[in-house]
Amino acid sequence: MNLQAIYLAQHTIAPLARRTPLIRSVGLGVYLKLETLQPTGAFKVRGAANKILSLSEQARAAGVITVSTGNHGRAVAYVAHQLGIPATICISELVPHNKVEALQALNAEVVIHGKSQDEAGIRATEIQQERDLHLIHPFDDPHIIAGQGTIGLELLQDLPQIDTVLVPLSGGGLISGIAFALKTANPNIRVIGISMERGPAMYHSLQAGKPVEVEEQPSLADSLGGGIGLDNRFTFALVKKYVDEVVLLTEEEIADGMLYTMREEHLIVEGAGAIGVAAILHHKIQNLGEQVALIISGGNADVGRLMDMGVKHGS
Ligand SMILES: *Cc1c(COP(=O)(O)O)cnc(C)c1O
Repeated sequence: MNLQAIYLAQHTIAPLARRTPLIRSVGLGVYLKLETLQPTGAFKVRGAANKILSLSEQARAAGVITVSTGNHGRAVAYVAHQLGIPATICISELVPHNKVEALQALNAEVVIHGKSQDEAGIRATEIQQERDLHLIHPFDDPHIIAGQGTIGLELLQDLPQIDTVLVPLSGGGLISGIAFALKTANPNIRVIGISMERGPAMYHSLQAGKPVEVEEQPSLADSLGGGIGLDNRFTFALVKKYVDEVVLLTEEEIADGMLYTMREEHLIVEGAGAIGVAAILHHKIQNLGEQVALIISGGNADVGRLMDMGVKHGS
């Protein structure tokens, strides 16, 4: 990874991904980076655009395929649709229905297979070989990481005094790109990854000192599900080098973060998108800095599920 790749990505993705606003939270004393405002409702369009636009004309014409918990698939489908190329998206049975519908609305071919992202991934590799498609990895690819890293450049422009950033963490493409950009500018900026207690693959891999498998479990933060790949090439090493700590949250804490963000900040967020807010609300970070940014990574919430949560919380 190098900084120039991230600047190049910023230029490349401009026609397809938005430069999102950084707003001051109403009540938390931190800043919120609104990736919910991306055309696909999540930051992943940055990486997908940078990757797909790096392919040759020939590779693009053949089409792209990916395995996804939803938002990466949506980003790939969106970019492919905009560029007029075919997209196939493989997802597991755990991906919520609203995300399946969104993929179909973008003319993508949706293949539902298996009970985990890993099982869906095996199917994706088979189809990729049968049809000679280009596989777009959700996180472990330098173009994807550089695309997500453009968020880091925007943070430095909008909040040059930034001292802490809280980033939702799954496969680590998002946090690797952001951490690389911020730490290159100033190694003292603190980069904190947030995952859910239910199957945090990167957390366990860091503890073990190598990529390990974790059992995928249903979570409100469904976008954070899935492993980092036993053959991880880029994100594990980048996270190990540039991320200061990883914090884990319970389902109750994530639910609180979602409800708070909707009620007090007037933003619709999914579980993964609210995880930074949840960490602040539950005082999970010791010695929080003065100029703190949270990445509100996505807003593709399952509205039916949210209603149930609202009823349960009694207001
Ligand atoms: C994919 C995703 C993440 C995690 O990104 P990684 O690069 O896999 O760490 C966080 N939030 C949302 C909304 C996502 O879709």
